[in-house]
Amino acid sequence: MYGRDFFVELCTLPKVVVHDIIIIGGGLAGLTAAVDLSQQGYDVVLFEVNTYPHHKVCGEYVSNEVRPYLERLGIDLLAKGAVAITDFEISTLSGYKAATKLPLGGMGMSRYAFDHLLYKKAIGQGVLCNFSKVTSVTYQNDRFNVKTNNESLYAKVVIGAYGKRSALDKALRRDFSFEKQGWLAVKGHFSHPSFPQNLVALHNFEGGYGGLSRTESGAVNFCYLTTYESFKRYNDIAKFNRIVVAENKFLKQFLNESQPVFDSPLTIAQISFQKKKPIVDHILMCGDTAGLIHPLCGNGMAMAIHSAKLASTVIGEYFRNATYDRSQMEQDYLSVWNRTFKQRLWYGRKLQHVLLQKKYLEVGIKTVGNSKSLLRFIINKTHGKTIV
Ligand SMILES: Cc1cc2nc3c(=O)[nH]c(=O)nc-3n(C[C@H](O)[C@H](O)[C@H](O)COP(=O)(O)OP(=O)(O)OC[C@H]3O[C@@H](n4cnc5c(N)ncnc54)[C@H](O)[C@@H]3O)c2cc1C
Repeated sequence: MYGRDFFVELCTLPKVVVHDIIIIGGGLAGLTAAVDLSQQGYDVVLFEVNTYPHHKVCGEYVSNEVRPYLERLGIDLLAKGAVAITDFEISTLSGYKAATKLPLGGMGMSRYAFDHLLYKKAIGQGVLCNFSKVTSVTYQNDRFNVKTNNESLYAKVVIGAYGKRSALDKALRRDFSFEKQGWLAVKGHFSHPSFPQNLVALHNFEGGYGGLSRTESGAVNFCYLTTYESFKRYNDIAKFNRIVVAENKFLKQFLNESQPVFDSPLTIAQISFQKKKPIVDHILMCGDTAGLIHPLCGNGMAMAIHSAKLASTVIGEYFRNATYDRSQMEQDYLSVWNRTFKQRLWYGRKLQHVLLQKKYLEVGIKTVGNSKSLLRFIINKTHGKTIV
């Protein structure tokens, strides 16, 4: 039998705090979900490895489809200096260039400013932000245990928004994390005297392509994606830029006329475009953690924000409605995620395949470029409708 001392000891044990929501990763997906869910009144803890502000490898063109939703959350990018972008152009190695108006248009804002803005909004609304790396997540008895090297926290719901690739993927035994990926990306800001304010340009070179657009600071962001196959012959960014990137005359002209703002470019490797599962071990995955669209579509940021909205909606329902259980929440998230993004990702994969095959490239871009309606069709298929 248990004596009185046992019960006294039991009552003095520290109580385990179970948070409503823990979000792993403070990029666009994680921060947007944090802002949305804290506005709904829930207790949100967010884990992020890096303090803000910090630069990130990204094309920094965000589609207008998420603008009304961001504004509803109280985030007005144009008021914070984002550049309105209305025009798109694409070029091939031979110097052919096609241009069109963007059906919805978008904005140019550095991730340095964008993520920082969302972070300030989130902490202003009471989100608890922990700057440490999550090393494990386990689910048992209807709650999650999230661990870093020196903390162990509990939550009813966990959102995985830790980006393209993380050690956590291996811990969660996700298939793609055990395979080597053949892509790397390079990004830098440049000062340029005359690059148009309202333009996002995509230029091809052998084994890759690069995007150019202005940001709120006035600098032009130049970000490119290339295969290892193409890069490894030089293994040096300056040399690669000179010999491969500058083979495209528009990029050559840009590099000749501009001055780098960063001391050295930022790079990331091991980028995976493989199919991923939007729910793993009951964790709702958002943004790139659920699936990364090929950057040439210029839609990954909007998808990250949109998926945060979808997750926040089902999570809100789960907390408010006693008859809506976890399995219903997961089922709904999976089906709305698939309905919203599956086709976009498919088009992105096909497009990337065509545009990086040397034999199709010229003819492909010329065919698309010569038909404004085909170009707009492709843009529409890789983008979504406006969300509020
Ligand atoms: C070369 C390139 C160019 C692109 N250009 C564009 C573009 O012009 N327009 C566009 O819309 N999209 C573009 N994208 C896609 C876009 O960058 C992504 O889709 C978007 O950043 C996804 O946001 P996210 O929040 O899912 O991930 P991220 O922004 O990557 O955020 C994930 C966060 O999680 C943190 N994290 C990781 N692991 C852990 C952990 N274990 N614990 C705690 N925190 C962790 C990271 O530090 C990071 O801050 C581009 C992508 C690439 C590769």
